[in-house]
Amino acid sequence: MKVVKFGGSSLSTGEQFEKVIKIINDDFERKVIVTSAPGKRFAGDTKVTDLLIKYAQAVIDNEDYTNIIKEIASRYREISTHFQLDESVIKLLKEKIIALGKTEFPDDEHLMATFKAHGEFLNAILLNKVLNSQGIKSIFVDPKTAGIIVHGQPNDADISPETYTNLAKFEIPADTKVVFPGFFGYSQDGSIYTFSRGGSDITGALLSRGLHADLYENFTDVDAIYVANNHVVKHPQAIKKMSYREMRELSYAGFSVFQDEAIIPAIKGQVPVNVKNTNNPEADGTMIVPEQFLFDPANQITGIACSKRFSALYIHRYLLNKEVGFTLKLLKIFYKYNISYEHMPSGIDDLTVIFDRTKLDKTTIKHLCHDVKEILQPDYLEWMDDYAIIMVVGEGIAHNVNTIGEIIDSLTKNNIAIHMINQGASRISIMIGIQESDADDAVKQIYKTFFD
Ligand code: ASP
Repeated sequence: MKVVKFGGSSLSTGEQFEKVIKIINDDFERKVIVTSAPGKRFAGDTKVTDLLIKYAQAVIDNEDYTNIIKEIASRYREISTHFQLDESVIKLLKEKIIALGKTEFPDDEHLMATFKAHGEFLNAILLNKVLNSQGIKSIFVDPKTAGIIVHGQPNDADISPETYTNLAKFEIPADTKVVFPGFFGYSQDGSIYTFSRGGSDITGALLSRGLHADLYENFTDVDAIYVANNHVVKHPQAIKKMSYREMRELSYAGFSVFQDEAIIPAIKGQVPVNVKNTNNPEADGTMIVPEQFLFDPANQITGIACSKRFSALYIHRYLLNKEVGFTLKLLKIFYKYNISYEHMPSGIDDLTVIFDRTKLDKTTIKHLCHDVKEILQPDYLEWMDDYAIIMVVGEGIAHNVNTIGEIIDSLTKNNIAIHMINQGASRISIMIGIQESDADDAVKQIYKTFFD
């Protein structure tokens, strides 16, 4: 049995729905279908999820939302009309959209989560109706019925363990497709909680694990995952096969095909993931498999990711390596300001702490630097806002002694200064810290060395 998840662009118009129906119909094993909300139809278009956020905000701010409701309903109407569905379908969806604005919520967070979840909720209802109208036997399944239980924040939920005990009891009716809305689950008290943005991938992965799928197919709008970003490297090679942990490292460092944490339930269930293109379903796509299935990686390097969202704090103090409790004091400062850090490479006299810049504001940075100066008395301190991280990832790295040397060579030969280099303990990734302005050039040079 296969779980098949379709992304927002795959379900954005009637034409896209037609491709989706064909894909579902082409393979009997494609039984569990997960929807996203209708995404962008063209560059500059707005995703339905973003329209719902606007709607929620208007309700919170007590502003007029008549036009936003119309805009949201028109996205579903466009699809419903394409398939000449009965007027009662769009009426039902519109009633649900209107009802949102009239519902009481315990607080704005719960309100926001429920509004957002409706993008996928309504699209799953619609897809189910469309499938039925095409003579395909299918049912819509609410995550509540299947027992998808979550906890944490209403707009950043985590999967609760009982989800898997519940899913173990869920039976897929014979000869029937089941359509699940992605992106959300229910808290213990029955409230809707969404995963973080892009979280329909998580629903696909948790269903794959919970329902013991043989394969999790993730349909998006690219033929494959590429070795490097195609805005930086012209026509990069496609990755045919990669391991789970390679994918984790690459999505963390900037590969946007998959949401960073989304793949974890699939890993735990050891379900292989196939990223495919709705617009070209014949293409093999990229297979993401457990490490043990990747005996012989095709290249010493699988992917080169680059993320420019980092900042770094550089601290220099002589004999830092001999000082007991230095890092403890530093960590206490982070704790005081509720800051998490990403990496902390260190030397004998210095230490660099790398932060995710998107999680910090200017005032916190000011307070943080002030406290570090006062409490740790460094000889030198520098805050760097233009910090980029390049992650070179590959199972093959562990088997090649010269990979690091070749990377360093390719950068230094081109006058690119390396601020930090760190090989992960798993020996499948090499992290390089450089100035943001050098980042694209560095990716090009590394690509050239290993792939051209
Ligand atoms: N529709 C949600 C979003 O835009 C979730 C998803 O597409 O996966 O973030």
